[in-house]
Amino acid sequence: MDELVGISASPGIAIGTAFLYLDDNPTVPRYSVDDIGRESDRFHRAIAKARAEIEALKARQNSTHTPEHLQFLDSHLLMLGDADFTASVEKKLSAEKQNVEWVLFSTMQELISKLSAAEDSYLRERTADIHDVSKRVLGHLMFRERISLADLTQEVILVGHDLLPSDAVGMNKHMVKGIALDAGGRTSHTAILARSFEIPAVLGLSDVTRHASLGDQIIVDGNRGKVLLRPTEKTRKRYLLVQREWRKREVRLMGLNELPAETRDGKLIMLKANIEVPEEVDSIAAHGADGIGLYRSEFLFLTPGAVPTEEEQYQAYRYVLESVDRKPVTIRTLDVGGDKVFSQLESSRERNPILGWRAVRFCLANTDIFHTQLRALLRASVHGNLRIMFPMISGIEEVNQVLESLQTVKDDLRREGVTFRDDIPVGIMIEVPSAAITSDILAKKSDFFSIGTNDLIQYTIAVDRGNEKIAYLYEPFHPGVLRLLKMIIDNAHAMGISAGMCGEMAGDPLATLILLGLGLDEFSMSASGIPEVKRIIRSVSMSEAEEVVGEVLEMKSFVEIDRFVQELMEKRFDVQVY
Ligand code: PEP
Ligand code: MG
Repeated sequence: MDELVGISASPGIAIGTAFLYLDDNPTVPRYSVDDIGRESDRFHRAIAKARAEIEALKARQNSTHTPEHLQFLDSHLLMLGDADFTASVEKKLSAEKQNVEWVLFSTMQELISKLSAAEDSYLRERTADIHDVSKRVLGHLMFRERISLADLTQEVILVGHDLLPSDAVGMNKHMVKGIALDAGGRTSHTAILARSFEIPAVLGLSDVTRHASLGDQIIVDGNRGKVLLRPTEKTRKRYLLVQREWRKREVRLMGLNELPAETRDGKLIMLKANIEVPEEVDSIAAHGADGIGLYRSEFLFLTPGAVPTEEEQYQAYRYVLESVDRKPVTIRTLDVGGDKVFSQLESSRERNPILGWRAVRFCLANTDIFHTQLRALLRASVHGNLRIMFPMISGIEEVNQVLESLQTVKDDLRREGVTFRDDIPVGIMIEVPSAAITSDILAKKSDFFSIGTNDLIQYTIAVDRGNEKIAYLYEPFHPGVLRLLKMIIDNAHAMGISAGMCGEMAGDPLATLILLGLGLDEFSMSASGIPEVKRIIRSVSMSEAEEVVGEVLEMKSFVEIDRFVQELMEKRFDVQVY
């Protein structure tokens, strides 16, 4: 039995069979050939196999296949049947006399770089499809099976180096029982998705892919951040008991669902859920959420294929708004970039994508995409209690620009006679230190703040949130972070607006008392985290929380604060500290 220690990214215990997902980029061999005919035959055989594979995927009645997914498979079939495409590979093959996988690879690379520079957004969007199709054909040429996580048909524990957010969002969630990855941190998007889908996960394991083999028995202990490979029967039995206890505890906490998150001295706190895909709305009622505090709309854009149309977006937003019984729903506008790679963005080419063309920066430069989303949001607003939120605001200029865009779109809709609600609260995320420091200025133009601690901590401490090597520096209780939180909340209140938080810190039971004492009005988190946070809020008074915050703000190091908070939360509130 091997025991590996990583970062506890999503709680719970999973016991099952390892499935290695190593969808890395293969090194494409390059060599000279004499027999062009043989290479051409290999190429056509690989195309035929890729076609048969896609047809089989289409035919399989898999409930995870959305209309967009089917459309995307059709476009890949069209591409494989395109005479110009095969002719260009054949021509290059004769001219260069290189092996066909290299010829295919270089043809695709040329095509992708030409299309990425195109003015036409439709052409730019095709780069993701070309990348996908070429990988599939190359896989056959190089005898590699290309496995899609959407097509899993057996329950597995997913073991891999890393997962793209688009892989994670598209995977068959019913079949993935646990996740163990070499890379990633607690606030990487894979971790966030695992928590949303309630899949136990341990990330940042460094080399689990080297230790695990396909079919190994494996235990993922998401509570303690441990992975046990090939466990002994005794260990397996022990973990089955732990798993049962954990489930019982979850059921017990659900008993709080109908009760408000109210402190002992009567302060009512809003506890809302973060969602990434519309299907997650079911978890809102199941965990007693007061609404949706963050709908990460970008996940609609990350599924390979075309950018969603205005109508597709409208339908998704409307569905979410109508599913929550008129509870408030905060939809965040497109936040791509960083680790959320989007075909239009080519962020992998940026030298520093985390500090690059992200979120509103991208939207303000791509008003066609941005205005389409705003139109869809405004149209959907009549179906519920919508709030719109803009991510990655760094200063007042960006607030002015996004508000101008919103006004332009409203004027257009009015001219067209399209109805929408004119009283939609419009807020901003505070997740860049410059926004935190100027939050007194930004509050004048915002109806609410939502603090994005995942990014705020990353940018304040200069620590990449997804890098396991420096995860020890990613510290929500760093005095620098706590001072910024206080400043943001105080500024919001001084201007009469509410201060919420939708970063992962909001769902961390160790942080609940401190956030309460700092005056946070709204906590938004993965729905499954709500009952535990509610339990703590209901067992404390504001005066006690404020007293604790007073003490903590006097402390000078996160080590000191960590120790103090852990001890207090464990003793006083029975929070499980691992
Ligand atoms: C955050 O940064 O805290 C946040 C909620 O946004 P995301 O995790 O999507 O970057
Ligand atoms: Mg963020």
